[in-house]
Amino acid sequence: MLRAGISPGPFFGYGRRRHVSRTYSAPVTEPYNLSPAAVTFDGATPRALAFGDVYFHSESGLTEARHVFLGGVGAPDLWADRQHTVIAETGFGAGLNFLATWDLWRRTAAPGSFLHVISVEGYPLSRADLARALAPWRELAPLTSALIDAYPPPVAGFHPLSFDNGRVRLTLLFGEAAAALAELSARVDAWYLDGFAPDRNPEMWRDEVMAEIARLSAPTARLASFTVAGEVRRRLIAHGFAVEKAPGFGPKRECLRSLFQGPSATRDPRPWFAPPPSLSGKVAVIGGGIAGLMAASALADLGRQVTLHEAADDVAAAASGNPAAVVEPWLDRGGNAVARTHVAAYLHLLRRYGGWGPQVWQPCGIVRLLGDEAARQQGALLAADRLLPADHLRYLDAADAAAAAGIALDQPALHLPHAGLARPKALAAQATTKVEVRRRSEIAALREIDGGWTLLDPSGAEVDRAEVVVMAAALATARLAPLPFAFQARAGEITFLPPFAGIADLRAVLMFNGYLTPAVDVEGGKAHVLGATFDVVSPDNPVSLKGDAAARNLRALGKALPHLTLPDPATLKGRAQVRATTTDHLAILGGVPDMDHYAASYAGLRQGKRGPYPSARYRPGLYIMTGLGARGFLTAPLLAEALAAQVSGLPMPLERAAMDAFHPARFWVREVKRSAG
Ligand SMILES: Cc1cc2nc3c(=O)[nH]c(=O)nc-3n(C[C@H](O)[C@H](O)[C@H](O)COP(=O)(O)OP(=O)(O)OC[C@H]3O[C@@H](n4cnc5c(N)ncnc54)[C@H](O)[C@@H]3O)c2cc1C
Repeated sequence: MLRAGISPGPFFGYGRRRHVSRTYSAPVTEPYNLSPAAVTFDGATPRALAFGDVYFHSESGLTEARHVFLGGVGAPDLWADRQHTVIAETGFGAGLNFLATWDLWRRTAAPGSFLHVISVEGYPLSRADLARALAPWRELAPLTSALIDAYPPPVAGFHPLSFDNGRVRLTLLFGEAAAALAELSARVDAWYLDGFAPDRNPEMWRDEVMAEIARLSAPTARLASFTVAGEVRRRLIAHGFAVEKAPGFGPKRECLRSLFQGPSATRDPRPWFAPPPSLSGKVAVIGGGIAGLMAASALADLGRQVTLHEAADDVAAAASGNPAAVVEPWLDRGGNAVARTHVAAYLHLLRRYGGWGPQVWQPCGIVRLLGDEAARQQGALLAADRLLPADHLRYLDAADAAAAAGIALDQPALHLPHAGLARPKALAAQATTKVEVRRRSEIAALREIDGGWTLLDPSGAEVDRAEVVVMAAALATARLAPLPFAFQARAGEITFLPPFAGIADLRAVLMFNGYLTPAVDVEGGKAHVLGATFDVVSPDNPVSLKGDAAARNLRALGKALPHLTLPDPATLKGRAQVRATTTDHLAILGGVPDMDHYAASYAGLRQGKRGPYPSARYRPGLYIMTGLGARGFLTAPLLAEALAAQVSGLPMPLERAAMDAFHPARFWVREVKRSAG
């Protein structure tokens, strides 16, 4: 189900680009959208029809979870001396083990510590069944209701959820266990093996799953399970676990406790993309656009001390400074890790921006017009493919599309009712509540010192010093450090349209070969944001914008809605900026590679040599997050979580194949491998 690769071509975007060919040919062999588990209830006890087994018994499930799993891994002592405790589980089910763990952790963990739970589930319960299954546990009610609110739809991939102001993290891996775990990067302190019984659900207990468990285990990781089946014990022993039987719960005589004797000897198949070592200490982020803002916020949420340096008078000023940013999912029928990550990024931002309230996130919905037969066919395919659940993506006929948009329309559309508008200034205020922001602080150079970096202003004076530096300065990042890739620059301009007949009542974002927002506050008045031009410019001199942007934006609108009487473009104001992008249209994320080490260590790739190769090396403490192209507000929140996790050595919220696809050295590696023929 989880397969690696590069996205063959997105359907959606926020600028009119002529140079990107949109390919729709990739067949969808696996929908992103998993079928929710079929569940019946025996009284209050939930039972999975596919496995003929109960998730737990409604009267004893919580006590059993505490005995078998929390007791089995030695909680709460497990987290007594750890700032970050990582627990992973096979079989999320209704989440009772997670809730029991969170409940105990809340009552016993030291201030300033964090709990990270990762849980794999191949057959996610629907939200309604989850709520019903958890209803008996009244003592957990506040935690249960937070879980139900955050619970993602059954879409395959990684879903990072956050509770208790970020101190408790739950990453749900929706997908088949071995494949999902193979995509995970984490160092797990304790495991709960809680799939349905091995004779009913052998997939969950197979050798490939155990091999991944061993790969992911920290030395001396603990493991607990309700089953003592001989086959399970033998597999665990074969993968380096010492196992023992402990008294079981209720009628079950025994349960399993186990200690990893690792480390496991698995070989990394792509050592050139191995992550950098984690680093503690202060963080300096350079650039206060959506990339830097979200990176700073994610790092501060992990308890890091963060200073954000922005050259302009304010944050959210350059490409990220439009009055409103349109955010819709990037849907791609390719079905690979990058495509799944972009869908997960969308679901993540709904939680992240949504949690910051209506000043930041306005889920007004998006109505994407399907203007010709080809677009209609593609739209129908996307809706039918279940790339998102039906309540997130619907095909509407013209009448329903008009009702959703609030204005007259004569063509069918895709409707994304949960998508909408992010408001950058309000977002910046929320993202920096725990961050020291230094405005008008241009960083001209970085100097490596023992154990960190100094940040120098244009006069050469030291303005800051930090163990970790995150470069998020868009195109200007290239001036701060040598980078193993070249940026591309795409200029764009939005036009502010005062409300007029035919669009004044627009209540959703209208997408066509451009976009039109409902009226928002712009420069003290109300205006619709009409966007956006998309022009190739030089990254070294990206300001050569064309003067006809308003006319071009209006032309696109006029083509989509020919009945409108459009204003004179010369009367309209707008805003021009530049998007930093890359040749493969994917973001750049992660540690900055030490390219001398790459050249010396991976030269054999040129000759097609199979290795072994050493792990990648990085400039210590130097990271990058940029190249967000035309979709920064979609991808930045999830990419920032991944960056923060990488800096701190915590479980990654992205699949390994996706991290590889965003790796700063990917172009270099690709080029070297290509030269091997
Ligand atoms: C016209 C237009 C419309 C768009 N519409 C949308 C949309 O609707 N939805 C969407 O998701 N995306 C949209 N985008 C794309 C989106 O704006 C970008 O993906 C996003 O803003 C990139 O964020 P960033 O933080 O990487 O870059 P930026 O926002 O450009 O931030 C980089 C920051 O770094 C600062 N900086 C640079 N050098 C230094 C230095 N040396 N020291 C300190 N600070 C420095 C800059 O001042 C700047 O504030 C649009 C882009 C354009 C141009």
